[in-house]
Amino acid sequence: MENYSSLLTRQKSFFRTEKTKDLSYRLEALEKLRSAVRDYEKPLMEALRSDLNKSEFDAYTTEIMIVLEEIKFTINHLKSWAKPRKVKTPITHIGSASYIYPEPYGVALIIAPWNYPFQLAVAPLIGAIAAGNCAVIKPSELTPNTSEVFAQLIAETFPEEFIAVVQGGVETSQVLLEEKFDYIFFTGSVPVGKVIMEAAAKNLTPVTLELGGKSPCIVHEDANLKLAAKRIAWGKFVNAGQTCVAPDYLYLHKRIRDPFIELFKDAIKELYGNTPLENPDFTRIVSERHFNRLKTFLDNGKVLIGGSSNPERLRIEPTVLTEINWGDAVMEDEIFGPILPILEYENLAEAIEGIDNHPKPLALYLFSENDDIQTKVLNQVTFGGGCINDTVYHLGSPHLPFGGVGTSGIGAYHGKGSFDTFSHEKSVLKQTTKFDLPFRYPNMKDGLKKI
Ligand code: NAD
Repeated sequence: MENYSSLLTRQKSFFRTEKTKDLSYRLEALEKLRSAVRDYEKPLMEALRSDLNKSEFDAYTTEIMIVLEEIKFTINHLKSWAKPRKVKTPITHIGSASYIYPEPYGVALIIAPWNYPFQLAVAPLIGAIAAGNCAVIKPSELTPNTSEVFAQLIAETFPEEFIAVVQGGVETSQVLLEEKFDYIFFTGSVPVGKVIMEAAAKNLTPVTLELGGKSPCIVHEDANLKLAAKRIAWGKFVNAGQTCVAPDYLYLHKRIRDPFIELFKDAIKELYGNTPLENPDFTRIVSERHFNRLKTFLDNGKVLIGGSSNPERLRIEPTVLTEINWGDAVMEDEIFGPILPILEYENLAEAIEGIDNHPKPLALYLFSENDDIQTKVLNQVTFGGGCINDTVYHLGSPHLPFGGVGTSGIGAYHGKGSFDTFSHEKSVLKQTTKFDLPFRYPNMKDGLKKI
């Protein structure tokens, strides 16, 4: 296994040249990244097709466009984010002024997963560059074509001492984690998040952990059912359910169960046709291991919609399971596939209790027209972020920091959140030399009695 010490040493000395701290250098780097992403649109879409059978529409909207939008937003705001901010000074500090200077950490390590292999490698990189860091990125080994195109894109655009891609699997990650980075940004599963935090703890390296978990979706009796069905079907089955913020399971009010399920069947048909397994644009499961893991859930409860699969093409059709309870295997961990189990409730308190008895979710979705119900859920349930009357859409807003809480993650990014994540806020007091107040000195006349 290669040793990455020399790469890190080169990045650290490049960082020390102070080039990356220059605002115009960062803006230029973001412009270069933007034009490289545009130049690589075609090979990226081809790679995403071969790694995951992502359609051109999905590849463009969920991987490429989202990154281009993030770069545009960052370029437009970077000047104001990067400025030192003057803040208030208390009367006890009269004569001085107080400032916060955002400064880059140095060399950041970014480790990315396979489900949105391009977007989740580049989105944190935008923040790292904006804040003035150097970065090493380790993309996922499970999407080798996309990782290869990404590595080429970066190598053609940036010198290695500024931004470098290191390809490889778990061992490569482990060797990288032995180095002393100044920041670690990890996106992936909860168990690996713990490994990352443990490795970071050895050097007290600050971390952002973008993890996962079971994100609930509550459909209350007063919801607009037609829209709920369509928006849930989209959020659940885009990328074949391999989305960290996909609704993992439904909490459905008993009274609207049957009409909702009919509308949900229609929504799946409208989005993926009568035979989604034959739909050439339906994303496949990333690997045989994940396919086999997901297939075992098809025996849980009762299959109400879908349930078929194709092992040769690693496809599972949009599936809905009923007669499910928390004891079923499908309710143990994040599903991360196109299988939606339904739990039913009569009183909202049952759904809230069910969610509260489990780790804090990355996302929560509530479909209800009632303000009191919305407020109740928002007040009572802790979750990373989410939507009222929609799914997944919150993560596309640069004004909403995106991240988890508890086991679903530590820290947040997107928009200014990304700049803040990769910046240390240096607090500085600038003191006057025109006068010197005597009160703080131990030798002042009458000492503390005067205070
Ligand atoms: P993963 O944790 O298996 O792998 C993520 C990355 O970590 C990969 O690059 C992999 O090579 C590396 N890795 C794996 N095992 C490692 C180890 N023992 N030591 C060091 N590095 C290791 O995750 P995945 O299967 O690629 O992605 C799916 C998971 O990611 C899901 O749980 C999903 O919810 C989560 N996810 C979260 C977000 C988010 O933004 N919160 C986004 C996408 C995916």
